[in-house]
Amino acid sequence: MPRTTGRHFLQIPGPTNVPDEVLAAMSAPTIDHRGPDFAVLGREVLDGLGPVFGTTGPVVVYPSSGTGAWEAALANTLSPGDTVLAFETGHFALLWQSMATALGLQVDLVPGDWRHGVDPEVVEERLRADTGHEVKAVCVVHNETSTGVTSRVAEVRQAIDRAGHPALLLVDTISSLGSIDYRHDEWGVDVTVSGSQKGLMLPPGLGFNAVSEKALAASRTATLPRSYWDWEPIIAANQRGYWPYTPATNLLYGLRTALRMLDEEGLPEVFARHQRHAEATRAAVRAWGLEILCADEREHSPVLTAILLPEEHDADEVRRVILERFDMSLGAGLGRVAGKVFRIGHLGHFNDLTLAGTLSGVQMGLHLAGVPVKEDGVSVALARLEQP
Ligand SMILES: *Cc1c(COP(=O)(O)O)cnc(C)c1O
Repeated sequence: MPRTTGRHFLQIPGPTNVPDEVLAAMSAPTIDHRGPDFAVLGREVLDGLGPVFGTTGPVVVYPSSGTGAWEAALANTLSPGDTVLAFETGHFALLWQSMATALGLQVDLVPGDWRHGVDPEVVEERLRADTGHEVKAVCVVHNETSTGVTSRVAEVRQAIDRAGHPALLLVDTISSLGSIDYRHDEWGVDVTVSGSQKGLMLPPGLGFNAVSEKALAASRTATLPRSYWDWEPIIAANQRGYWPYTPATNLLYGLRTALRMLDEEGLPEVFARHQRHAEATRAAVRAWGLEILCADEREHSPVLTAILLPEEHDADEVRRVILERFDMSLGAGLGRVAGKVFRIGHLGHFNDLTLAGTLSGVQMGLHLAGVPVKEDGVSVALARLEQP
């Protein structure tokens, strides 16, 4: 490989670009995780997480990837043989349901076409039909990172309430938290699962569970085996700013800085920024004459756009050309859309000119890979970016 110059464009939908401020914060010396200075850091990050999740309840932080936080959500609230209702919105929803099966849960999977989010009407229908209340939890991936489709969690909550069903609501926000409007308390979510390396602008390595009163109560009787993931000792130690085991100290330094950055920008402004960049991206894709995978206007993801290529073209070849020529990484198609789509991440530490550069690289790559494009999508996107 020839030596590259300038910054690599990491435009996959996670891990995302880590701001220099966060990297600098993480380079501070590691401290005693049982000492007095640590408790100040611990409480500051735990308090700072609440507003991002939209909760006044506990947020459990694990030294783990998002997958670990998935397991924690299931293991703390459910018992062997319990039924969970899941939806095939895409690759990540399927991975979560396989994990549930592996842990000894029964999964009632609603099939999907990977172009739509969770249908609140189907949620209501399924739960109304479950008169014996066999379903103990409804699992929803808020932003399906494999497809660029964002499910309407508030409407899913209303559907559960209309059905009068007591199931817990477990939501994966690994690629939405800190980028897309989200309200754990207001939407009545019981466990919100998240991770550090997407909207929170950190390197991979932290997993999160925001936990409702109802989920805490369920954890007292749930019998799936758990030890490392057990909320109780963590929440107890967190009261004073500590963890029952060695936490990821330097990632917590980074988290403290990232939370300050989100707070300084203002969460409503952060959400609006992501919406605006997503709109400009879609404008470019439409001008190119290519198809967006998400098929419902209400469900377009603010954090990534998955682009479907005409059948005779290989999306991985387009990504390969773009990486080789322009040093930019784009997201691969996963699972059943492998080779058919590529994904542009426009989340986290990102601005107008990052988007302009990203779309320029994509447009040149499409030309070089011989994918026919109709119009100059970059100019269309730039015209959108000239507007507030
Ligand atoms: C990235 C992602 C995951 C997996 O998280 P890891 O940190 O790779 O374990 C799960 N769900 C969604 C929606 C994701 O975007």
